[in-house]
This record gives sequence, C-alpha cells and structure tokens, in this order.
Amino acid sequence: MKIGIIGCGAAGGTAAQFARKTNRNAEIVVYDKEGYGQYSKCALPFVIGGMDWQRIIEFPPEWFRKNGIEYRNEEIYRVDLENGIVEGEKEEEFDKLIIATGASPACPFEANNAYFLRTLDDALAIRKRAEEAKKVIIVGAGLIGMEVAEALIKAGKDVKILEYMPQILPGMLDKDIADYVMKKLNIDVILNCKVKRVDGGTVEGNDCYEADMSIIATGNKPNTFSGKAIEVNERCEAREGVYAAGDCTIIKDFFGRSIVVGLGSIAARQGKVAGSNAAGGDDAILPPILAKTTKLFGIEIASVGLLSKEIDGIAARYLGRDLPHYMGGEEILVKVVADKDGVIVGCQAVGRGAAKIIDRLAIAIYNKMNVKDMARIENAYAPSVAPTFDAIEIACSMIERKLK
Ligand SMILES: Cc1cc2nc3c(=O)[nH]c(=O)nc-3n(C[C@H](O)[C@H](O)[C@H](O)COP(=O)(O)OP(=O)(O)OC[C@H]3O[C@@H](n4cnc5c(N)ncnc54)[C@H](O)[C@@H]3O)c2cc1C
Repeated sequence: MKIGIIGCGAAGGTAAQFARKTNRNAEIVVYDKEGYGQYSKCALPFVIGGMDWQRIIEFPPEWFRKNGIEYRNEEIYRVDLENGIVEGEKEEEFDKLIIATGASPACPFEANNAYFLRTLDDALAIRKRAEEAKKVIIVGAGLIGMEVAEALIKAGKDVKILEYMPQILPGMLDKDIADYVMKKLNIDVILNCKVKRVDGGTVEGNDCYEADMSIIATGNKPNTFSGKAIEVNERCEAREGVYAAGDCTIIKDFFGRSIVVGLGSIAARQGKVAGSNAAGGDDAILPPILAKTTKLFGIEIASVGLLSKEIDGIAARYLGRDLPHYMGGEEILVKVVADKDGVIVGCQAVGRGAAKIIDRLAIAIYNKMNVKDMARIENAYAPSVAPTFDAIEIACSMIERKLK
C-alpha cells in the first residue's frame, strides 16, 4: 500500500506517524513545502519573542526518514482525487491520499507591506523586522494577535492592538469575561475599530494610526486545491481513498454546527484518525467541543463549548480563589453556561488552573451532565491542593438556583 500525505503540520505529521504505527509495511510519502519537518505553529509567538527557532521543531525531516517515512520538501500544485495522483516536481500515484494542507492568513481589507503569522518563516521575518521597530500595530485581538502582542511587549516594543469587535478574544470568551481579562492585562487595545487599509506601519481605522510595522491577525482561510474547505466525517474521509485533516477541513462539532477546524488540538486528533484509517485501521474522532487555552502575561485563560452569546441558556459567573487565602490562593473567575434544562454546554475560566478546569467541564459536556449533578460531585480536598467547594461547583449551584 502506498500512502501520500500533503502537508506536515499538526495534522499531516501526526497522520504519517499513525499510518506507520498502524501499518509497518506501507510506503508513506509526506510532502511539505516548508522543509522543517513537523513543528508547533502554536509556538511561533515564542520565536518572535526570541526563542531559538530550532527548539520548536518536534520531528525534523530525519526523524521521518529514520521511521521509514519519506519526507519530501516539495510543494504539490495539483491533485487528481479520483485517481490518487499528486503533482509536485513530478506526478506520483497513491492508493490512499491524506490532504493536510492547513490554512493561510485571511485579510478582509487591503494590506500592503504588512506582516502575517502562519509559518516559521513568517515568525522569523517578524522578529527580524521588529528588531528595528519601536512601535508595532497588531490588527486583531484574537488568540494569535494577543500572543504576538505579549511577545513584542516583553521584547520592549510599544504595541497597539486594533480590534473590530467590542471585546478581545471574541472567538473564545464572552464580553464580560474578556473585559475582566482586559482590566488585568493593562495593554493598549482599541475596540470597535474597523480597519480599512494597511500600508506598512500606517493603518487606517477609526483614525489613522502610525507605527514602524504592522502585523495582521484577522483569521485564516483553508488551503485546498478546490479553494473550499474539505468536508470530512468523523473518520476523516472526504471520499473513497481520500482523507483530510486539520485546518483545511470542515466538520460537524458536538453541537451539530459545521465548523472550519482552526485548532492544533483538533488537527492532531484528526491526523491520528486519518493516518490510522488510511493505513487500514479503524478510528474516529469525537465531535470537537472547541477546548481552547492560552496564557497572557502569566494569566491562564481557557474556554470550552458554547459561549453565552451562542445559546439562549443560563449562565453563572463565580469569582473566587483556587485555594484558601491562608495557602496563597489566587483569584480565579469561572463562568459556566447551561441550556434551559440545566445541561452544561460551556465554560470559561481565567486564573491559575484554568485549562484544567475547562478539561473537567469538557468531560461534563460530552456526558451531557446537568448542573445539579456537577454541583454535588465530590472533589478531593486539602487546603494546600484544592478548596472544599471549588468554583465550578459554586457556579453550577448558582445556575441550579436560577433554574428554580
Ligand atoms: C501563531 C499561532 C498560534 C497558535 N496557537 C494555538 C494554540 O495555542 N492551540 C491550538 O490548539 N492551536 C493553535 N494554533 C492553531 C494551530 O497551529 C493549527 O490549528 C494547526 O497548525 C493546524 O494544523 P494543520 O496541520 O492543519 O496545518 P499546518 O500546521 O498549517 O500545516 C500545514 C502544512 O502543509 C504545508 N502545505 C500547505 N500546502 C501545501 C502544498 N500544496 N504542498 C506541500 N505542502 C503544503 C504547509 O507548509 C504546512 O507545513 C495556532 C496557530 C498559530 C498560527
């Protein structure tokens, strides 16, 4: 069996690894136009902040070769899905194809001489230009824009962020939680700012803003040969003999919505499934519930499932401490979102342990748990480790009371 994989990011690289684990004899070829092997795109803000770029390479090209996977630094220009043919430097035919070509930055306005962040080369270019810059404008206060802002502020730059929406992290948090984070961060963000044009460091928005360079972080569009995201099922099948995984795909999430994948966590899981199945295995992903996290200036932020603004349900917010005050407890904000029957559908958390909190809620969401049970479930308690009643239980009790 001969398997061809286009792209060696979180999805393609993971697919190659699981195809090899599933089938020791298959011939596996991975094409990637970047040539670095598999690296974490999520770590690019750290490279901008000065981290040695070689540290973020998780599996270099030699690793694939040592594991019997042919890694080719080559761009594929055309695929014939019906006949399993890909065309790069030459045409090659495969029994199974996995398309894992990721996405590219999308920009809704005219932009010239601006920087975008998707690849290691992009990060190195931003870092180099930023060395000579004092003032930087970032357009977009989503995860990527905020993480890049942190890296540049820590590197001593004067950073202004322009955001179209009335809040930061609009895809991850409700406005009330985002406003709480904003107050803690104390950074220069202009909300409700519709950017119309960017040229170098000149940005036309509500006003005209001037800086030495600008970075645009306004979202992504899938890289596909048809120009449209590839629709896949839970087995990552696009059509017979063709699989797709990662940011180039569209899938149904846990709540039945069609979503374009945009998270490394989902891309890697899809890659595992696509690689295993292409090699003769039998695997499927659970529908995504969009667990997201980041850490900005030392503050952990996380969310999972639906935001309040996405459902006509009931939510409760609890501001407490993760440990008793006498044990150095830190402030933690938790918001739980439930539907009108009290079934938990989402959670947002800010503070120490936020990612672990939403991981716990992810299990509750998958199991369609009710706030009533969640408010009563027994947790381990010791003053030095965890409080008697934690923020999740308290927020769930608050929803339970609202339901009555
Ligand atoms: C700065 C940044 C921070 C992020 N932080 C997080 C985070 O904290 N958590 C999280 O879950 N997600 C995060 N993400 C999103 C995550 O990185 C992506 O969801 C993930 O990389 C998607 O994996 P992928 O394999 O689909 O695409 P990619 O990682 O983009 O890989 C696609 C690969 O295909 C190659 N390719 C494309 N077209 C061709 C072609 N025609 N021929 C050959 N090769 C081709 C590309 O060069 C690329 O190497 C972040 C993204 C960025 C940019």
